[in-house]
Amino acid sequence: MAYEHVWEQYVQHMRDMRGVEEAIALMHWDMRTIGVRKGSAWRAESIGILTAHHMTLATSEQLGAWIEELRTAPIAVWQRASVARMAHRYERLRAIPLEEYKAFVIACAEAETMWERGKSEGDFTLFRPYLERIVAFARAFAKQWGAGAAHPYDAWLADDDPNMTVARLDPLFGALRAELVPFMQDIAHAQQRGQSLPRVPISMQRTAQEQLLALIGFDASAGRIDESAHPFMTAINPCDVRVTTRYSEDDCTSALFSTLHEGGHALYEQRIAPMFHGTNVCTGASLAMHESQARLWENVIGRSPAFWNAHFRTLQSWMPPLRDTFIGHFVSAINSVQPSPIRTEADELTYNVHIMIRYELEKQLMSGALDVAQLPQAWNEAYARDLGIVPRDEAHGVFQDVHWAGGAFGYFPSYTLGNLIAAHIWETMCEAGLGTQLHDIPKIVHWLTEHVYTHGATMHTDAFLDRVCNDTLDTAPFMRYVKDKYEGLMHVGQTPRIQ
Ligand code: ZN
Ligand code: ZN
Repeated sequence: MAYEHVWEQYVQHMRDMRGVEEAIALMHWDMRTIGVRKGSAWRAESIGILTAHHMTLATSEQLGAWIEELRTAPIAVWQRASVARMAHRYERLRAIPLEEYKAFVIACAEAETMWERGKSEGDFTLFRPYLERIVAFARAFAKQWGAGAAHPYDAWLADDDPNMTVARLDPLFGALRAELVPFMQDIAHAQQRGQSLPRVPISMQRTAQEQLLALIGFDASAGRIDESAHPFMTAINPCDVRVTTRYSEDDCTSALFSTLHEGGHALYEQRIAPMFHGTNVCTGASLAMHESQARLWENVIGRSPAFWNAHFRTLQSWMPPLRDTFIGHFVSAINSVQPSPIRTEADELTYNVHIMIRYELEKQLMSGALDVAQLPQAWNEAYARDLGIVPRDEAHGVFQDVHWAGGAFGYFPSYTLGNLIAAHIWETMCEAGLGTQLHDIPKIVHWLTEHVYTHGATMHTDAFLDRVCNDTLDTAPFMRYVKDKYEGLMHVGQTPRIQ
């Protein structure tokens, strides 16, 4: 058969899979935003049924045959990327019996519901048996995927990016820890304790989030913003990209930065080249690349004095209680470095320590060195050792993240990798003269679209860094970026110039 014809059938098959993926994504979105609690068992079962159907499509003999044919066909580079990506998932899913995978997915949906309940009731023992089941599945899968891997955790890291392994991350994170931790302690000591910002009514914050998303180029006619306990972004399809945020009346910056974070994810999904729509490369290049775009908007751009020099007046018009706040006060408040118990509210320096703690715990959970029953204690010990903090309860400790309940092992490292990648990209943007252009957001978005977003998943992380940044992944740009930034903030005595 002519390869063009095989390609057509392969694309049609991807569209069939995508239809099911869209239904599952909508059910997950519903579960995490407005989901009716009594319906959760039914929803979990339906998600399981749809996932089994999806898995049948994703592992069919026919798809395997097309992959084989296309692997040697004279197709375009982006088409080869699509086939390689499909083959990777095909092999992984084929390694696990359908019934087992379905049971895992149902267990995850159940565990997520129980995570929410256990967290609000502050009772880890409610959640523990659910997490134990998930970890048992995760260890079993790691055995099936990781034959020949140097570390059982590699099997989960490879789910997202086969180039990321314990052997690579250990030295990378080790180098980061060695340089970052003393720097972070210096800054935390040197900074004055900032005054708090005024309270902003939540109704006012809500409209501000919509305006903030519009400011950074989010297309509201191709997406929406809602509220959830754990903010997230989901691309139902490229023209329906949804973000959520969460509000705190006492701290109006909590929603702002979570919106910028999820908005960064959303920009990526909304701006992938239309020619890739409907295929498996219509997504971010990797979780780490995705996080790099979220962290770029949240921190590198969103917490920079330059961004607020240009947009603080606009923010004041959205949130009138900030009218009497000095911009210097606002900028130091959003850049205060202080060890704290909650990852998602951490400053951009200590944040990475939160991630390295989870990385170590996941490694131990996967190798069997640590069991779920020991997790709360191991968590608290790590926080005491690395951040000097003892969480006041489990909700502020081991319970804070939904990832493990959702079976997302190997995800956490991508946040710190994302920070490192964002710094690589920012250096490249500065070389292109964009470092001083934060008043002109369309220009920034245009560059990112052309160099990052439009390519979707046609390049993997390392290829991307090589091609776009002419560099390999390391900690140097990140350390240069934070040193430059925080030393700048210190020199002006916590009060960046008002312009
Ligand atoms: Zn999240
Ligand atoms: Zn994110």
